[in-house]
Amino acid sequence: QTVHVPLGDRSYDISIGNGNLAEVGRWVTSLRKVTHVVLISDGNVAKYYQQPVEDAIAAEGIRVTSLGVPAGEQSKSVPTAQSLWEAALADRVDRKSTVVALGGGVVGDLAGFVAATMTRGLDFFQIPTSLLAQVDSSVGGKVGINLPSAKNIVGAFWQPKGVLIDTAVLKTLPRREYLSGLAEVIKYGVILDADFFAYLEANVQPMLNRDPAVLQKIIARSCELKAQVVAEDETETTGLRAILNYGHTFCHALETVSGYGEYLHGEAVSVGMLCASRLGEKLGVFDAESTQRQAKLLSALELPVATPKLSETAILSAMQRDKKVEHGKLRFIVPHAIGKVVLTPDVPSEMALAAWREGIEDE
Ligand code: NAD
Ligand code: ZN
Repeated sequence: QTVHVPLGDRSYDISIGNGNLAEVGRWVTSLRKVTHVVLISDGNVAKYYQQPVEDAIAAEGIRVTSLGVPAGEQSKSVPTAQSLWEAALADRVDRKSTVVALGGGVVGDLAGFVAATMTRGLDFFQIPTSLLAQVDSSVGGKVGINLPSAKNIVGAFWQPKGVLIDTAVLKTLPRREYLSGLAEVIKYGVILDADFFAYLEANVQPMLNRDPAVLQKIIARSCELKAQVVAEDETETTGLRAILNYGHTFCHALETVSGYGEYLHGEAVSVGMLCASRLGEKLGVFDAESTQRQAKLLSALELPVATPKLSETAILSAMQRDKKVEHGKLRFIVPHAIGKVVLTPDVPSEMALAAWREGIEDE
């Protein structure tokens, strides 16, 4: 199955299958004339998939340089990027070399950034292996690294030449990481597609079982929806792309204040979407039943739905550092119905805090 991402001369295809990793060599050569691949992965992913991918690419007569980074967000850093630049150069990278990212969002963002910057831009392919990377980070061309003081602050828009998604690799993904990725899948239903949301409600058990047919369907639909948004607002200039940020203002505040590591990203998105929904209720544009529908689906997929008890002052100041803030005013992506959200300016901070607070469970 193929999802096309229409971006003019930067258009590319996302190729989705079950077991298609074995065809990675032919896939690469069918898209570009490639002579040298720099394959970047992390330890957890390399353990299972580096050798087969390396072999399949080498079988096409392509020279492969395999580079590894430690698993985890810490690798999205200047020192790791520098070590990759230097290792690639030491193995004779040139302007015709191609970077292949094999891993989750960390590897995709980092390898994409290295591709965008090495010799002023190398061709880049993505093989996302976490559910989050398959439905979110590998689509859209945002690449980058963190500084100690700020996440994703150094980066570029650098579109891949192709994305290969193999649902079979999700078998080895830790359960918590897998469930966390499902939060972003649910997000697409709420922001853009009520039928898709209903499909998810009807397929909880197959999703928990990582049923290949259902995975294929939900990944393809998520990629299609993200691709649509990205195609209309590739570089986040018209504001449309901001709808992908549904639940994320609360999510980022939660991640910041609880300390990274406490919540996986998708878990914080789960809590954040419900805060944004209660905010919609307070603004009089969303109904409580629709909030409940989301809570029911999220908790059926074992995602957290309750707001933790944290300092409201800290939450508010974290929200005020959100990139959607304009002239000091909080702006939120607020749902109006399942399948429709609206970027809403001038939200009073007391109202946002109340939406947060009302998610705290009584003891
Ligand atoms: P991750 O890359 O750290 O992967 C999560 C964990 O799963 C890691 O330990 C990884 O080694 C492991 N893993 C991945 N695939 C596996 C597999 N098939 N089998 C076994 N283990 C596997 O984290 P993530 O959640 O994939 O991505 C998070 C990153 O994505 C963050 O840095 C975030 O900023 C970024 N992100 C980027 C975008 C974008 O548009 N570029 C969008 C959303 C998130
Ligand atoms: Zn997210």
